[in-house]
Amino acid sequence: MKDIHASDIDIQKFAFDQQECQPEVIKHILSCEECNERVQSYLALSSFIKDQAEPTLDYNLSHLVLGQLPSTKEAETSYPYLINFIMLAIVSCLALVLFLFRGTIGYLLSSTQAYQNYFIISIIAFISTALVLDQFRAFYQKVNLLTP
Ligand SMILES: [Zn+2]
Repeated sequence: MKDIHASDIDIQKFAFDQQECQPEVIKHILSCEECNERVQSYLALSSFIKDQAEPTLDYNLSHLVLGQLPSTKEAETSYPYLINFIMLAIVSCLALVLFLFRGTIGYLLSSTQAYQNYFIISIIAFISTALVLDQFRAFYQKVNLLTP
């Protein structure tokens, strides 16, 4: 082992994490002047790198980057507002119709089984439409997030 010097990896292990070194490598490095010099040069290089000041920019990078980004806010917000407006208009119309014709509707629902079925079916259709519109809105928002 005296004739074969330690590899660069062993030298680095010895310099920075001696517990990872094999005992014969440690023994060689301690006894070999050339390997010991290599260890010292690694340590000197390491301390030189650590002593370097942190690189800093003399301008604010985030402002420059944010200024370059395209603005998608308008497209993101306008479409869901349209969906919300449509939903609000539909609910308002239904509420108005139910309020204005509450007497007639109550009479029809209490008198005929067929009208009760129509009422239930129309409520189901309304809720399904609302769910589909909401799914479409969520999908549109996700697509907007993905497009640059
Ligand atoms: Zn050596």
